[in-house]
Amino acid sequence: MLLIEKVGHYYSDHMALEDVNLEIAQGELVSIVGPSGCGKSTLLRCIAGLVRPSQGQISLNGKEITDVPDNLAVVFQDYSRSLLPWLTVRDNVALPLRRRGGSKAARRAAAVDALEAVGLANAAHKYPWQLSGGMQQRVSIARALAYQPALLLMDEPFGSVDAQTREDLEDLVLRVRKRGMTILLVTHDIDESVYVGDRVIVLGRAPGRVVADLAVGLPTARDQITTRELPEFVHMRAEVGRLVRGNGQTFNPGPPFSS
Ligand code: ADP
Repeated sequence: MLLIEKVGHYYSDHMALEDVNLEIAQGELVSIVGPSGCGKSTLLRCIAGLVRPSQGQISLNGKEITDVPDNLAVVFQDYSRSLLPWLTVRDNVALPLRRRGGSKAARRAAAVDALEAVGLANAAHKYPWQLSGGMQQRVSIARALAYQPALLLMDEPFGSVDAQTREDLEDLVLRVRKRGMTILLVTHDIDESVYVGDRVIVLGRAPGRVVADLAVGLPTARDQITTRELPEFVHMRAEVGRLVRGNGQTFNPGPPFSS
């Protein structure tokens, strides 16, 4: 569905990305993890058509991305700047649907449906500033869901919420993916990348390039307590942690003591 070929990007003479190659299939939930400044957001902005890569090309369903694609939504970390304070929560969620046409009543009904999916039906008539940070981020996710994008990009979406809310939002993403969307989630949180992902792409230090592409062998049904206790989870987080920290060997625990 998404093909990234030999993508590199420069900001003036600073190389942020180098030779990134990736293929992402329809319906996958892919985590992109890497140290701060390695180019994760740049890669996401290139995919969103917000930044034109200096090298290589990105195509969605066989069509090169040269502008913001129609069937794509982005959830950013900074929810406080992504919602309009003068619109109610329902109208914030309904706003992008104007691009798709349809009656105002239909757009509002779709917005209420999406708010229900994120557990915020009761907040439809409130204003964003009347909600907590975690609730505002759920509104941003509802806005993306209402739009029913083929591809959902999330850039550190839970970076500004407390730990408990973060776990709730991770579980929310796992629920919404059942709607068949393809999701790319950028995070610097190693545990999160493994917990939500079908696949973890590790970008190395700047200039960012793919240092590993790992399949997550965890059961599809995940739970914050039991999944994180599974040996496969513990193994993967150690492997991803090592790769992010830059000592590129893959993890092989081997026998505990060898003589
Ligand atoms: P990450 O998301 O992994 O933290 P970014 O993609 O935000 O990394 O940034 C990668 C590198 O590019 C960093 O060194 C950052 O300072 C630089 N950079 C990002 N955006 C810009 C910009 N608009 N202009 C110049 N440099 C930028």
